[in-house]
Amino acid sequence: MRFAKLVAVPVGLALAMTMTACGSSTKTVDQATESPGGSAGSLIGVTMPTKSSERWIHDGDNVKSALEKLGYQVDLQYAENDIPTQVNQIENQITKGAKLLIVASIDGTAITTQLQQAADKKIPVIAYDRLIRNTPNVDYYATFDNYKVGVQQATSLLVGLGLKKQDGSDGTAKGPFNIEIFAGSPDDNNATFFYNGAMDTLKPYIDSGTLVVKSGETDFKTVAILRWDPATAQKRMEDLITKAYSDAKVQGVLSPYDGLSIGILSALKSSGYGTADQPYPVVTGQDAEAASVKSIIAGEQYATIYKDTRELAAVTVKMADAVLKGGTPEVNNTKDYDNGNKVVPSYLLEPIIVYKDNYKKVLVDSGYYTEDQLK
Ligand code: BGC
Repeated sequence: MRFAKLVAVPVGLALAMTMTACGSSTKTVDQATESPGGSAGSLIGVTMPTKSSERWIHDGDNVKSALEKLGYQVDLQYAENDIPTQVNQIENQITKGAKLLIVASIDGTAITTQLQQAADKKIPVIAYDRLIRNTPNVDYYATFDNYKVGVQQATSLLVGLGLKKQDGSDGTAKGPFNIEIFAGSPDDNNATFFYNGAMDTLKPYIDSGTLVVKSGETDFKTVAILRWDPATAQKRMEDLITKAYSDAKVQGVLSPYDGLSIGILSALKSSGYGTADQPYPVVTGQDAEAASVKSIIAGEQYATIYKDTRELAAVTVKMADAVLKGGTPEVNNTKDYDNGNKVVPSYLLEPIIVYKDNYKKVLVDSGYYTEDQLK
């Protein structure tokens, strides 16, 4: 119920911004007619982690076009997951006279000095999707309910194994099932939230022996994949198969991101999974990237978590506009995101589980993808 209310606003906003499927529209508008008063034409610096993942490309495009629509100038930069590059980009944006920074950080602890420079110049900062840690110099945070993403990832694993039904009731399967666990990048604050949400959900099943992590590797540090790198996940899955599955099969893999799921599925395929005799285990994901949705449709990956990047862009741009006009942005969470220095006022959006049987409703009917993009 809590989210029914929260979702209504950003969806409306997203529609109002007439964003296209995945919103890559870069259409410019007549800035004079839509200028936001005193802040008209201000430069806004936007930094995104990498173009190697589809979602961040959509995020960057959506934020840029929505800001431009309001009459702002935008400097949008990608850093290919290289921390010094992102540090330089933020410094450059400050030097160029940016009036506000929107940052999706690579390492949430690595930009403290730059944010101090921003604060010294009274440049407000909005953390985008990932919390920026250990600094007082972050004003707002726009993201999804990251703990809930983890709960949903684990839930989709339980559904795939038959231990739960999609409606939340218990399934008929009994287990025990062999599973393995992956987590995201340890320098991304979100990774811990996803992991905690998932592990809290799986713990009773692991404790009762219904789920067995045969490798014994469950600790966050051990299962985390630095920089969310698919090749690292593929290598770890290969190692796990060699180490723990010479005389058993893996039946489920908790994967926190579609890119990792693709690496994990490749490792499984090389080891003979993906046939009628030896089907793929239930593999989860996140981001509803086109390649993974296609994989779900093909019966390979089992599920993913959809986070509407159009909504996130819309919320963030609304925040930025309010701040630049001297107002107070709308937030809906002022307790969960302590960055080690302060609790950052946040706006949390609602993630949704995508299965083969609801992808059309969730992803196509909402206009996020066209049916053709998933062929
Ligand atoms: C984002 C996820 C994404 C991951 C890897 C996280 O911070 O919240 O949506 O899958 O980074 O890019």
